[in-house]
Amino acid sequence: MRVHHLNAGTLRPLGGRLIDGEPGLLRRATMVCHCLLLETDAGLVLVETGIGAQAAHRPDEWLGRRFLRLTNPDLDADRSAVRQIARLGFDPNDVRHVVLTHLDLDHAGGLADFPQATVHVYAEELRAAQRPRSLREHKRYRAAHFAHGPKWASYEGLGEPWRGFDAVRELKGLPPEILLIPLAGHTRGHAGVAVDTGDGWLLHAGDAYFHPGELDPDRPHCPPALALFESLVQTEKHARLHNQQRLRELARHQGDQVRILSAHNAAEYRQYATGRAQARRPVRA
Ligand SMILES: [Zn+2]
Repeated sequence: MRVHHLNAGTLRPLGGRLIDGEPGLLRRATMVCHCLLLETDAGLVLVETGIGAQAAHRPDEWLGRRFLRLTNPDLDADRSAVRQIARLGFDPNDVRHVVLTHLDLDHAGGLADFPQATVHVYAEELRAAQRPRSLREHKRYRAAHFAHGPKWASYEGLGEPWRGFDAVRELKGLPPEILLIPLAGHTRGHAGVAVDTGDGWLLHAGDAYFHPGELDPDRPHCPPALALFESLVQTEKHARLHNQQRLRELARHQGDQVRILSAHNAAEYRQYATGRAQARRPVRA
């Protein structure tokens, strides 16, 4: 399976190295919206959609003023997933399936650019967006992103085991190489997306962690402002920390077989986009 790594939303919050961990305090940090375009036997599959082309035309409605103020996103529609897919030489209408880790605006913002696609999501996440339990849930999902009536395929239950995690293995219409891995915490129905590329597994962990240092098995670490942000936007603290620990264990013991990536880390994205991402050396117990 061929995998393309796309950044469909560059965010530049204030905070320099307190957020992205790279040198310089008085500059804006760089964050990305890391998406995967998969060429499969069932056609093109997009994992995550970024902020979407509409963000350029109606930013207030699409992303909300608070998000715009906090993250200072690049609003160039040319950088949307749909335009990048066209530049790669594909017809965006051939994207038959979209798989999402969750429905926050920086992950689901591009859904409207693929109205023909079936959208696969964990059922608890769809419930959180459609019937929010709190003001925070009410605010974090944006009705405009779903106004076109996505063709949802949602999944309950825990399914089968996968490398110490539960997995939903049979996603409707998708090849068995693509799994949903429930990883609640950041949101109620947050999930990872595991892909058997034929050249090892990839696990897109969405917002289950924000900085690769958090998966360091020996010395987990995260820039302080980013760690604070993570805890401020979490829905279920214990589930988030527990799942992060499980990801650390996966990296520790199976890092040579499963490469784990997150949605927003720019350095991690650059490594994948330039083909330099290395498998971790596992630590055998
Ligand atoms: Zn996010």
